[in-house]
Amino acid sequence: MSFKQQYSELPDALFQSICPEQVVEPELVVFNHNLSKQLILPKEFEHRDVNFLSGNKIVETSTPFALGYAGHQFGNLVPQLGDGRAHLLGQVVSKKGNDVDLQLKGSGKTRYSRGGDGKSTLKSALREYIVSEYLNTLNISTCRSLYVLCGNESIMRNEPEQVGLVCRVAKSHIRIGSFQFAAMHQDTHVLKSLADFTINQLYPELNNSNNPYLALFEIVSEQLSKLVASWMAHGFIHGVMNTDNILLSGEAIDFGPCAFMGAYQPTQVFSSIDRQGRYAFQNQPGIMHWNLARLAESLIPLVDVREEQAIALLTKALNKFPVLYEQHYHALMSEKLAINSADKTSKDIITSLLKFMSDEGLDYRATFTDLTNSFIRKDENLKINSSDWFNYWQKQINLDLVDRMCHVNPKQHFYNVTIEKLLDLCVAEPLQASNYIEQYFAALHDDESTHLLANHGFDKAYRTYCGT
Ligand code: AMP
Ligand code: MG
Repeated sequence: MSFKQQYSELPDALFQSICPEQVVEPELVVFNHNLSKQLILPKEFEHRDVNFLSGNKIVETSTPFALGYAGHQFGNLVPQLGDGRAHLLGQVVSKKGNDVDLQLKGSGKTRYSRGGDGKSTLKSALREYIVSEYLNTLNISTCRSLYVLCGNESIMRNEPEQVGLVCRVAKSHIRIGSFQFAAMHQDTHVLKSLADFTINQLYPELNNSNNPYLALFEIVSEQLSKLVASWMAHGFIHGVMNTDNILLSGEAIDFGPCAFMGAYQPTQVFSSIDRQGRYAFQNQPGIMHWNLARLAESLIPLVDVREEQAIALLTKALNKFPVLYEQHYHALMSEKLAINSADKTSKDIITSLLKFMSDEGLDYRATFTDLTNSFIRKDENLKINSSDWFNYWQKQINLDLVDRMCHVNPKQHFYNVTIEKLLDLCVAEPLQASNYIEQYFAALHDDESTHLLANHGFDKAYRTYCGT
């Protein structure tokens, strides 16, 4: 199969056609067979020819390019960002019949590199692979990773590190920041082309609506409310929810500084650069709402030629976000506890559990696993099983919902310490990385595994970093 080139329909102002830089002696580190089976890939990719996988050679039907975007980074508008180290190779069809983007990240400089070297470390490429595939196991909407390669070359970070590339698969790479970038061109044609492109790529059914651009905003709000609700329910802290890191597809992207909640603490921040705690765990829904306000601002000229009317329509839609979020969050948390979300007490059970966890320093995710296990065995040694909260909960459980509870609460978890340990193993022996990754992912389904243990001491000192 060949690549399609949908993004070339966009106005020239929004992208640069550019080939990836050469990778020195590329070697395949890990290839996602499960994902590849869901896609119809060009034969060079099917054969896992590293010359093509690395971008050293380009499949005939691909014309790689980098997308421009802007973005609010930590609340400040940066007008000129873009794919500074990524190249979109094109779209392939999934076996379900929908198109997905294949993008190389760590593939060299572009017009948007702003003094950066255009490269990624092998460790950051593997982090992206491991985190995105882990989020996918949790049923969180996310970009996927098809493979990671390494090159025989060092790049300078705090110390010299081996280079790596990750191939990302996503429904779309259009970000809120893409709309901010297009809106800044002061040319409604550019903005309209991007909006039409996004609708056709992601939500073609909106072409039939009265006001497709307002409908686009509404559907994106819905998708992003679902996304952030799933992060909150699973204890995921994205860490860098800048508007350039939020996709209109509602898929999670950019896994540099992300981490998982250990001992429950709503104010938890791991990112070394988030000194004000803007992207703290508990702030994530509010930040998503704030980011959507930036998308709404960008769409004003398209929603109605009368600016006041456009603002009124978008404001009304934007104001629905907290309710949408609450509905999704409440439904997910109720599932995690096998309680009826419509019961009056359900909200109180959830909030009182969270308070109990934070008062007692309980691990957020392991607590749900312990509660799930309480159906299998009564473990009197656990703090939560002998608490008043546990008795309160027991009275509200709906036994018909227990199967679902067992399904949504994983048996085992990747803790921050797990991910770092796995990354260290993979970077030390890149040609064994595939085996290590397979072993660790298999352990997620193994009740007896001792690979995956929480370490709250580790979390206390844990700091994450952007853009390595
Ligand atoms: P991020 O923190 O990964 O969301 O990146 C923010 C911006 O910096 C984006 O425009 C990236 O393309 C760019 N960027 C990050 N790392 C590099 C790099 N090593 N070389 C060039 N651009 C980069
Ligand atoms: Mg980014």
